[in-house]
Amino acid sequence: MEQRTYHMSPEEFRRLGRQVVDWIADYYERIESYPVLSQVRPGDIRSRLPADPPAQGEPFADILRDLDEIIMPGITHWQSPNFFAFFPTGASFPSILGDLVSSGLGVQGMLWATSPACTELETHVLDWLAKAMGLPEQFLSTSTGGGVIQDSASSASLCALLAARERALDYRGNLHGLDGRLVAYASAHAHSSIEKAMMIAGLGRENLHLVAVDDSYAMRPDDLARLIKADRAAGLTPAFVAATIGTTSSNAMDPIRALGEVCRREDVWLHVDAAMSGTAALCPEFRWTHDGLELADSYCFNPHKWMFTNFDADCFYVADRAALINTLSILPEYLKNQATESGAVIDYRDWQIPLGRRFRALKLWFVIRHYGIEGLQYHIRRHVELAQQFAGWVKAHERFELMAPAPLNLVCFRHKAGDEFNERLLTRLNESGELYLTHTKLDGIFTLRMSIGQMYTEERHVVAAWEKITRTAAELENEG
Ligand SMILES: *Cc1c(COP(=O)(O)O)cnc(C)c1O
Repeated sequence: MEQRTYHMSPEEFRRLGRQVVDWIADYYERIESYPVLSQVRPGDIRSRLPADPPAQGEPFADILRDLDEIIMPGITHWQSPNFFAFFPTGASFPSILGDLVSSGLGVQGMLWATSPACTELETHVLDWLAKAMGLPEQFLSTSTGGGVIQDSASSASLCALLAARERALDYRGNLHGLDGRLVAYASAHAHSSIEKAMMIAGLGRENLHLVAVDDSYAMRPDDLARLIKADRAAGLTPAFVAATIGTTSSNAMDPIRALGEVCRREDVWLHVDAAMSGTAALCPEFRWTHDGLELADSYCFNPHKWMFTNFDADCFYVADRAALINTLSILPEYLKNQATESGAVIDYRDWQIPLGRRFRALKLWFVIRHYGIEGLQYHIRRHVELAQQFAGWVKAHERFELMAPAPLNLVCFRHKAGDEFNERLLTRLNESGELYLTHTKLDGIFTLRMSIGQMYTEERHVVAAWEKITRTAAELENEG
């Protein structure tokens, strides 16, 4: 029989697509049977793959078989309810389905005209979230600012820094380059993406000046004011402050209002990175973490962390969209079109670094509509309750101690026997495959992090984790 095309037919897609959805559903049903942290060694996966790609197409069944046999052993199960490492990255079923539709449509939404719904749904869903989280008025698209979906908090912070840089230089940096006098500020607990943004934006890592922190690892406004004053006296131009709501290390809450007052007074751009903890603002009782946000120039949080939306989706808000657009807009002939020229539409390519963009708003729309704000609140509250319970057990245990306040869903703790013991404890726990935890250092002290935010984590998983931790610690103590 003569073959006219190599494509998969819609009929085959329908049949195989159902198989793949079944495969994903089966995966979630048995997810607790896998070791949470993949146990393979470097090179194990590649050694099982053929050296060359197939010349002839292969049956889909063979691809699925190899998915099970070759790929699955090399997966660390982020969606396991026993995943307590780093921060969570949710992948709820509604978000997976929304992402599937986005893939199915295959839209590239760089301009309004390249799919009006891609842009308008994004603007609308980001306004929805701003209202549901009680974010200040200026971040709404109906005000001077607005929101845009970025791939990651790293990109959002870089865009914020670029806009701050250009605002500080009256938008001449893009034309003439930098003069080496701009400085930015963050605490040592800010995410590493801030330092990376300094490298990429051309400000230089050494021009990120570190602000002292208090006992809870939160940035000290008095020290920020002092540094800015000293830098101005030295002829430098303070341009950017990156504050964090929920630091990655220990979930410290920088005091946004007091920092914002310093930034307003000094005319310095305040960016607030709430990558994980931002989602908590959906619950009114946790909005104290966002107090003073109306003094910020930009803000971001990641639905792909704690809002049950699969990677990648970061919501980035600016108070003055003109600053961002003036920084990132460039219009070659081949992108000119009537809608853009009319000025009546948003072209999100001007709000980000790449030109092209996926239709990510769909998955957010699916998630928000499936759960409703109440559903999201329910699960967030549950996670915070579980973390508070865990913190209580640590506090009550004579051999363990808390290493930082636990304001929401991250608990920093350690066994009292010292760094080396805790390192061994962590390795032993992760090798068991029963759970996955990671660590940080606080004041140089090796600290375990219990991060509770995986969608399907229930009380029984947290109870089992604590039992496993205490039992393993007792074993290690006995081994001496
Ligand atoms: C996780 C995290 C980031 C990085 O997030 P990406 O979206 O992966 O870039 C940035 N800041 C904070 C506070 C984080 O917790």
